[in-house]
Amino acid sequence: MELAAIVGAAGAAGIAVVASVGWRRAVSAAHRSSQRADRAEATRREQQVAADEERRVRDLILSTMHDGILLIGRDAEVVFANAAVARHLSPAPTSLDGVLPLALRTAIQGSRDRAESASVLVETGVPTRWLRGTITPTADDATLVVVQDVTQERQLESVRRDFVANASHELKTPAASIQAAAETIRTAASEDPSVIPRFAAQLEREAARLSRIVSDLLDLSRLESGSALDESVALDAIVRDEGERFEEPAAEAGVGLSVRADGIPRVRGSSRDLALLVRNLVDNAIRYTRPGGHVDVDLTSDDGEVVLAIVDTGLGIPSRDLPRIFERFYRVDRARSRETGGTGLGLSIVKHVAENHGGRVEVTSELGQGTRFEVRLPASA
Ligand code: ADP
Repeated sequence: MELAAIVGAAGAAGIAVVASVGWRRAVSAAHRSSQRADRAEATRREQQVAADEERRVRDLILSTMHDGILLIGRDAEVVFANAAVARHLSPAPTSLDGVLPLALRTAIQGSRDRAESASVLVETGVPTRWLRGTITPTADDATLVVVQDVTQERQLESVRRDFVANASHELKTPAASIQAAAETIRTAASEDPSVIPRFAAQLEREAARLSRIVSDLLDLSRLESGSALDESVALDAIVRDEGERFEEPAAEAGVGLSVRADGIPRVRGSSRDLALLVRNLVDNAIRYTRPGGHVDVDLTSDDGEVVLAIVDTGLGIPSRDLPRIFERFYRVDRARSRETGGTGLGLSIVKHVAENHGGRVEVTSELGQGTRFEVRLPASA
């Protein structure tokens, strides 16, 4: 081979080698770049899945929340509203102008104008509901509004307030009587000792009343945190004992009392609280029955339940008062209740004991004819 040919062949081979190396590099670069693209795509997909999951969890939380969450954008349009918004603010607004009640809209507008957080309590609808709006401006000129229905909270607060006011009033009356009687006794000691026994008796009566109110209040507050259901209680024995305890007061009141309670299944619960229940119902039946009337106490069992019926031929309860007689301090005839030593707490105690034992209490009454209280408790297996 001629030199030129040799050189030419060698050159061509060299080019071929270089070309082959270049091609391989290009292939591997393309491969790497495709791997990078695959990785980027996988990362993108993972991020998408994570974002979807995050959104799903967020939507789930927001849609199951009791509080309404409302996001109002810069242009006063509703950007987001969870399901609770439609429940609290009906109809669900699509813009700030559609927010009702008006007091809430005004508060939101004010908070946007001043770029300040605000909280507002508004009364709305029939029956009345109370809504609390907590308004927070965001960095991008939007406004986040959290709407809570605080009706139940307000009702509990008002029940608590009424209870404190009633309890204070109930305690103040005998306390004032005691003070008056004590002062009279002090002056009578030097001026007219003959009146002392009368005022001493008043002192004794009012002190007993004070102590009954305090004792009922203590029972009630204990029962509000439940009854200890750790005994197998023979309710028939309790009913018979309580019947005996009331024989004398019934006779004094001229009221006939009969008790039937034999061979009844046991009840799981607290004997102390169940005795309180029986005592309050029998005591009421005697106190609200005129001389010559009758009280029947009957304990039976019926389909897995123990049934205590206390029936009197007494004054009866007007039908408009029936739904309220289990409320604390509610009395139909205030004067009669006081005269006969009532505290207005007895039926509230009865209801708590029945419910603490998984039972219920019902009442039927006819004015001037008499009343029937029925307590049903589950019999223990
Ligand atoms: P009180 O201490 O005043 O008797 P309760 O809570 O035991 O309070 O009863 C509430 C009210 O229900 C009573 O004031 C009375 O007006 C009415 N009441 C309860 N039991 C009877 C009954 N057997 N007959 C008629 N009225 C009753």
